[in-house]
Amino acid sequence: MSYVLAKSKDDDILSAGECGGAVTSILKYLLDEKLVDGVLTLRPFDDIYDAMPVYVTDSDDLISTAGSYHCAPTMIGDIIERFIDDDTKIAVTVKPCDMRAMKELIKRHRINDDNVYFIGLNCGGTVSPVSGRKMIDLFYEADPNDVVSEEIDKGKFIIELADGGEEAVKIHDLEAEGYGRRNNCQRCDVKIPRMADIACGNWGAEDGWTFIEINDEKGQKLVDGAKKVGILETKTPNDAAVEGRSKVENIMIKMAKKNQDATYPLVSERDEWSRCIGCYACRDICPVCWCFENCELNKSYFKDEANAFSSPIAFQGVRLSHMSFSCCDCGQCEDVCPMDIPVSLIFDKLQKKYYGRTGYVAGVSEDIKPPLYSPEKTEL
Ligand code: FAD
Repeated sequence: MSYVLAKSKDDDILSAGECGGAVTSILKYLLDEKLVDGVLTLRPFDDIYDAMPVYVTDSDDLISTAGSYHCAPTMIGDIIERFIDDDTKIAVTVKPCDMRAMKELIKRHRINDDNVYFIGLNCGGTVSPVSGRKMIDLFYEADPNDVVSEEIDKGKFIIELADGGEEAVKIHDLEAEGYGRRNNCQRCDVKIPRMADIACGNWGAEDGWTFIEINDEKGQKLVDGAKKVGILETKTPNDAAVEGRSKVENIMIKMAKKNQDATYPLVSERDEWSRCIGCYACRDICPVCWCFENCELNKSYFKDEANAFSSPIAFQGVRLSHMSFSCCDCGQCEDVCPMDIPVSLIFDKLQKKYYGRTGYVAGVSEDIKPPLYSPEKTEL
């Protein structure tokens, strides 16, 4: 592993980028040099609350994707799994939970990692777009529709308004009132995606630069290649920057563990599961679940005469048997549950028990065989 500070040499990318525009520059290098067929990343559509995945094949379109979208908890792994064939070469920007889900999909032969460049983004957490709007309405002197950009800096959620005004509120204060980062992000203790080829962030970076942790040979080639074609400049961060970054990471992990200790005892699986209506929303949104046609939960022996799921405990129990060792705590199951079951909190709590016994962390540890049902795509 090595570290560099990086900055775009393209002025438009530098001003559109969140930090030094390094990520957009590397993506441009990959497209222009035809090292990838496309780039899967995010772009805001109508406003700051609706960044959505976009597949870019022309590097001129990358400028509209630059920036960090904190109100976009979107996961990208299952898009690759479902819509991009194994021979297509792509690059993808990934938060830690997204990278974890992709690692699990790679183990299940659903993503061919030889053909994917994983551009990691450090992540302190995302804000739900719906509660983000409400939070701005309640805690800021602003109309959520007037917000033109947002950023998270030094523990504050900062908004910029159409009239040029700026407002900031401490994330700690927002979270004390039930807003701020999503619940799973508050307890997430994987803040730097070291499983990706590179992990990019602002921690330890000077203003206008991106701090890049280079995690493997592929990552090194990305940075070297982008420099060679003249789109990226780099310099070595000093010891204080590296230390400062590690300090912030450790503080964030400590806060996450405190949140885990406070929230795990609050849930009782059986009580929560009794509300389950077997609607499949949690399964369908899960970025790691992939075998829909062959899914155990579709089997007739679980259904009643009206073809409805007969037992909430069986539904959640079967899911748990699949997820206790593979949940990446992205929180999407909880976001979509119509019965407000804290699904990902339960999975995460039991995943930590599994970790206690085996030392295994889903999507982070390498040392586990894939589940029994993990056929090669060609076998299906
Ligand atoms: P840019 O050149 O601006 O490119 C960023 C790329 O990321 C673009 O392609 C964009 O479409 C894509 N992207 C934006 N939002 C998302 C998203 N939600 N999911 C997937 N892809 C996305 N760094 C830290 O050091 N500490 C943090 O706590 C931290 N929290 C973050 C939280 C979130 C939700 C995000 C998205 C990023 C966070 N980062 C954090 C990373 C940081 O904000 C920058 O993304 C990183 O430094 C790269 O900057 P850049 O200028 O090189 O990227």
